[in-house]
Amino acid sequence: MLSTHPIPKLHGAEPENLLRDSHGRVIRDLRVSITDRCNYRCVYCRTGEGGAQYAELATEEYLRLIRVFVSLGINKLRLTGGEPLLRTDLPAMLRELALLRTPNNEPLDLALTTNGHLLAGLAQTLVDSGLQRVTVSMDAVDAPTFDRITRVPGSHGKVLAGIRAAQAAGLGPVKVNCVLLRGFNDDQILPFAHFARAEGVIVRFIEFMPLEEGRLWTPAIVVSHDEILQRISQELPLLRLTPSAAGETARRYGFADGQGEIGIIAPVTQAFCGACSRIRLTSDGKIRTCLFSHREHDLAGHLRRGASDEDLQAWIRQVVHTKEARHHIGEPGFHKPSRSMVHIGG
Ligand code: SAM
Repeated sequence: MLSTHPIPKLHGAEPENLLRDSHGRVIRDLRVSITDRCNYRCVYCRTGEGGAQYAELATEEYLRLIRVFVSLGINKLRLTGGEPLLRTDLPAMLRELALLRTPNNEPLDLALTTNGHLLAGLAQTLVDSGLQRVTVSMDAVDAPTFDRITRVPGSHGKVLAGIRAAQAAGLGPVKVNCVLLRGFNDDQILPFAHFARAEGVIVRFIEFMPLEEGRLWTPAIVVSHDEILQRISQELPLLRLTPSAAGETARRYGFADGQGEIGIIAPVTQAFCGACSRIRLTSDGKIRTCLFSHREHDLAGHLRRGASDEDLQAWIRQVVHTKEARHHIGEPGFHKPSRSMVHIGG
């Protein structure tokens, strides 16, 4: 048993007790990066030259902080990175997280985002440890294109095996995230639509955001929501599906013949900041209230200076209150945050 701290006193999930920002949004969704190490060097994310490395917290520290967040009404938790499967204590961490209950005595919605490279050998263990959902990143159906993007030979076969193992272990329908970049992989849009139908996965196309280590992003490299929709619909007609949850980031579409589903996440051309219910905790324990924040809040520092659970609760409430209204991608004066996606946790 890893947990040494009791769950902080619960206040009940009455609306007045939930985490709120100053724009009236309720925050119920926490993404925790458990490492910023990654075994891939995707061309749109990393420079391929090693780069900065931030610290990682001990398992017990993540667990204590997550318990405090849950006591404040967080009911959706996604572990990410970096590559979270590189943390060997992940199954142990999941077993503890699966025991947590919200103030309404419900289990957490417990999900993981991974590049899938190590998933085939771990999928069953993760399910047995309490994982409920997985999202696998895969930026090309075509193997040579994929390996060129990840810069790891043989990665395509590993990820495909990981997706299939996850489906077999009961994590289906697996969501497959594909970040599209014009001139890199936009020829993969239709193949991915067919892939979604053949494999029984939900492919979610993501507009590329300016969060890379290098300087690749331009408005022209972004493949927009409307273009993706149009290019698929020319061959495979699509119907808009109703959102399955409030604040859902993906616009969902079903194929008109009833077989299969895709989603499009369009933070650049159709920003959804007004419905954002998310905050992030970086691998070194900083709260980020927006992907594009220029300010971080050192929660782990507070913890290590001996803060009580009640201190942490009060401090988190203050931090969440300062959440930015929206991002400013593409606007004059926009500048990227100092951390790139791999170091924030996507
Ligand atoms: N290593 C895991 C993975 O590959 O899924 C988790 C971390 S990764 C940073 C999380 C997600 O962010 C991946 O789906 C990745 O494709 C996406 N991503 C990275 N950089 C991005 C960017 N600049 N714009 C949009 N999505 C990005």
